[in-house]
Amino acid sequence: MYPSITLNRERLRQNVRVMTSLCRKHGIGITGVTKGFCADPSVAQIFFEEGITRFGDSRLLNLKGLKGFEVEKWLIRPPMCCETENVITYADVSVNSEYDTILRLNHYAQIHDKPHKVILMADLGDIREGFTDYQELFEVARAVESLDYIELYGIGTNLTCFSFIQPTFRKMAQLSELAEQIEERIGRQLEIVSGGNSATLDLMIHGGIPPKINNLRLGESLLFGRERANYQYLPDTFHDAFVLHAQIIELKYKSSLPWGTVGVDSYGIRPSFTDRGEKRLKAICAIGKQDFDLETTVPVDSGILMLGYSSDHLMLDITDSIHSYHLGDIIDLIPGYFSLMRAFTSKYIQKSF
Ligand SMILES: *Cc1c(COP(=O)(O)O)cnc(C)c1O
Repeated sequence: MYPSITLNRERLRQNVRVMTSLCRKHGIGITGVTKGFCADPSVAQIFFEEGITRFGDSRLLNLKGLKGFEVEKWLIRPPMCCETENVITYADVSVNSEYDTILRLNHYAQIHDKPHKVILMADLGDIREGFTDYQELFEVARAVESLDYIELYGIGTNLTCFSFIQPTFRKMAQLSELAEQIEERIGRQLEIVSGGNSATLDLMIHGGIPPKINNLRLGESLLFGRERANYQYLPDTFHDAFVLHAQIIELKYKSSLPWGTVGVDSYGIRPSFTDRGEKRLKAICAIGKQDFDLETTVPVDSGILMLGYSSDHLMLDITDSIHSYHLGDIIDLIPGYFSLMRAFTSKYIQKSF
């Protein structure tokens, strides 16, 4: 049934291999981030088979679904107050930036007699999660150290997610210094110094990561072989391990310009159209905004023009394609990160693997 998504296991496996060997060379351990595929166990299985022993997800429900895997599970978004008890149950580690939340975790960890590890997040400029007052970070680190059921596992940072601030040598050196200052105060080494996500890979490859940093949380690069700083695909990786398939439900010659009085779209914006002529071959596929993200998707057939989409219809101009299509044919689309995430979230997309 369509729409569907398929996975080329060997291509994904190859991506994971390239990343693990690259990171190993630089003394970096990987936390495999599973949120891009809603922690689907058959995809996670490939991470596992390739030696990834830490899984990270921003949704507790996803971690719950990974219960069968004997790996260390990280909640990589600070916990909600309402889920702290479940964090103890389904995660071994969580990232945190609020001491009150850590106290709640300690409370439930005690009730369940299950110690929990925390990673304190430092905001180094992206203005997303993390302490910006580093004095407060040190004080919280000291306080966490004295909690009975919480282990201070390490510190981390996240960049290039909200303000798209780049991880530089300077930023990574700063994170290292913060780690050292905490170590001085608690009198022992931290196990984890987590230098960010796929955006830090480029710096790593060029030797710009201080030795103190020993972990990256990787999602996009494992799935697509893509680093996030220059948005390059790394050598020997595949960007098309996942492919979306949508069926043509209408095929007609239509004008490139609409006719009538133009109103505004759902965002209050008046749409504009490019005049490509009166008679263009248009295909409509049964897939929409509920199922994928057009901006981060490319058709396998480069002769296809994606014109736009609504909740359930994808409008294509196939006039310039060298292939001939018929009603009922399948159009293959290569999803990017957001698109993949939405496809896995959509219950309308068949996951046929
Ligand atoms: C999503 C996420 C990641 C993974 O990011 P990629 O760019 O996919 O590698 C890492 N850390 C945190 C905190 C995240 O939310």
